[in-house]
Amino acid sequence: MDDETFRSWSHRAADWAVDYRQGLRKLPVRAQTPPGVTFNAVPPDAPEAPEAMDAIFADFERIVMPGITHWQHPRFFAYFPANAAPASVVAEQFVSAIAAQCMLWQTSPAATELETRVLDWLRRALGLPESFQGVIQDSASSATLAAVLVMRERALQWAGNRSGLTGQPRLRIYGSGQVHTSIDRAIWISGIGDDNLVRIPVHGERRSLDVAALDAAIAADREAGFLPAGIIASVGGTSVGGTDDVAAICAVARRHDLYVHVDAAWAGSAMICPEFRYLWQGVELADSVVLNPHKWLGAQFDCSAHFLRDPDGLVRTLAIHPEFLKTHGRDGVINYSEWSVPLGRRFRALKIWFLVRAYGLSGLRDMIRNHVRWSEKVAGRLAATPDFRVVTGPILSLFTFRHEPKGVPDLDAHNLRLINAINDDGRIYLTQTRVDGQFVIRFQAGAFEMAEADADMAFDVIVEIARRVSRDATAA
Ligand code: PLP
Repeated sequence: MDDETFRSWSHRAADWAVDYRQGLRKLPVRAQTPPGVTFNAVPPDAPEAPEAMDAIFADFERIVMPGITHWQHPRFFAYFPANAAPASVVAEQFVSAIAAQCMLWQTSPAATELETRVLDWLRRALGLPESFQGVIQDSASSATLAAVLVMRERALQWAGNRSGLTGQPRLRIYGSGQVHTSIDRAIWISGIGDDNLVRIPVHGERRSLDVAALDAAIAADREAGFLPAGIIASVGGTSVGGTDDVAAICAVARRHDLYVHVDAAWAGSAMICPEFRYLWQGVELADSVVLNPHKWLGAQFDCSAHFLRDPDGLVRTLAIHPEFLKTHGRDGVINYSEWSVPLGRRFRALKIWFLVRAYGLSGLRDMIRNHVRWSEKVAGRLAATPDFRVVTGPILSLFTFRHEPKGVPDLDAHNLRLINAINDDGRIYLTQTRVDGQFVIRFQAGAFEMAEADADMAFDVIVEIARRVSRDATAA
């Protein structure tokens, strides 16, 4: 591609992005294509000869776009958001043009130094103590894996990396049944093994880990010859927003000399609003915490902020210095690849910088507060509508509900039909979970471009389609 073609297609791509976002409300949120359509539309062999960009672009619109679920749609209420605020998309365009590999300070000093600075902005905005230091990871899963590796190494007095786990006492990690599957994977990958992830029961409205049961489990494990290594606390769990008492967990951890990692991948962004910080009260006592600015805050995917009370343990666990990575004569600089599992690092700090400057912390706080308010409004309206039950009340902007019309024998099957009908309709997108064995529908408000009218429309769509599905069921 010559320079002028590159220029003209870059302009077209930028224009396309604006048109795409402007047209989102007219598109179905979830892709409506059946399995195999995209795969079968692409020929089995790669082209031998170069093709014209016009042809490639036409196929992109014809083949790819119909199979896209629109995560930037203002009525995306499924999973958790993966917001890409326009300013962060612009930053990513620059990052993609520069395409720097930012593994060491010297491989792009500005990337490293901007990362240090913007994570310190974020640390202050979140109310975390000055002693915490941050690093951007590619995902919360990576941050949690890194934390579990530190738990392992710390408990084994740094012998695990060198000698493996053979002959060592069996390590134990503790968390509730509400923790995300990234914790299970971290336990598998670290060699600790699923049998050694001890699931502590939860209680109360927030589905918090039972701290007395945690204390007892650790003591019993020690007695039985296991080696307790760490605790994962959840703040805003994926299923229903399960939130642990971080302060109480840290008190137990301190008594048993254990490492605490807090998974606040979704809810953490809300902590830029001081009134929500009660949800992670005590976080300053934890050893590490992860939150995803790529979820709720608006930093284009991927971007996970991992804060540590003392990064030495992490660096001691992950740093490796072959000759080809040495940065001679540059002592005192940070090489962030020593803080993460992958060596290669994208320049992710730029999008946080653009995002926070373009919207200001106050703009981002307003967005999050609106989402919480609008979600509470939808929950309140559903609770007041006959045949609907709010099963778990809002934790920030996430709640679950069920439609329970009289005379329907299998309410799980009915709610499954309802969610499928809603997502086939396409005006909104919802996902499901289970609460105490029952199938429930999740609702979370978090799309960057969402307006109150989108929440109102969500309520109308849910009620309209629920009535239709009930009518069809009784008619059948
Ligand atoms: N933790 C929680 C609570 C999550 O909801 C998620 C993803 O939704 C993750 C961790 C994993 O995040 P990532 O995709 O960044 O690994």
